[in-house]
Amino acid sequence: MKNNKELIFSWPVIVIAFIIFWPVGLGLLVMRMNSDKVLLLQSGRVLSLFSWLSGCLVLVGITANIDEGYDSFDIGLITFFLIATIVLNYFGRRLKRKGLKYKKYIDLVVNSGIMDIETLSNLMSKPYEEVYSDIEEMIEKGYFKRTYINDKHQIVIVSSKVNDVPLDSSSSNSDEREIRKVVVRCSACGANNEVGINKVSECEYCGSKIQG
Ligand SMILES: [Zn+2]
Repeated sequence: MKNNKELIFSWPVIVIAFIIFWPVGLGLLVMRMNSDKVLLLQSGRVLSLFSWLSGCLVLVGITANIDEGYDSFDIGLITFFLIATIVLNYFGRRLKRKGLKYKKYIDLVVNSGIMDIETLSNLMSKPYEEVYSDIEEMIEKGYFKRTYINDKHQIVIVSSKVNDVPLDSSSSNSDEREIRKVVVRCSACGANNEVGINKVSECEYCGSKIQG
């Protein structure tokens, strides 16, 4: 099942879908961006860039034919890129807002250690229910691992230190485990991670590579 999902959302399939019938390609692209932890944090900017490019093609289409007039092919092409511009802009803005919101939650929960939904709701200026479902969604997407919301509506992270062993360390002897650590801010999600000095590790929250 997982392999099927990976195939449907793979880049070649998305590109082919764009060529055959672009709304399907766009749908797959947005779904991929929405389900990929790292992409989701950055995808808004990518879609906005495509939206600008598409908008430029609309302007080129309009100005290039301004003297000769427009035949039905020109009008079709201009309409196609106009709709693409609007749709890309819409999804780009939505995903950008979502990415920024997730980064803000990561900053508050991970970096500032705020675990109370009520406090988060106040700090985010969002209704309590919305914050609750946002955090549930982030847990589901895997940003917060080994995490749950308890009866007192507090976010509980069972252990945040399990993933600390550097990826390139195959040794398990105790000397290797006592590596000196530094706190590194993940460039993708903004979470502070403890990483062994000069070691490449994976961000515990979004999975991006980080260098200690
Ligand atoms: Zn990260």
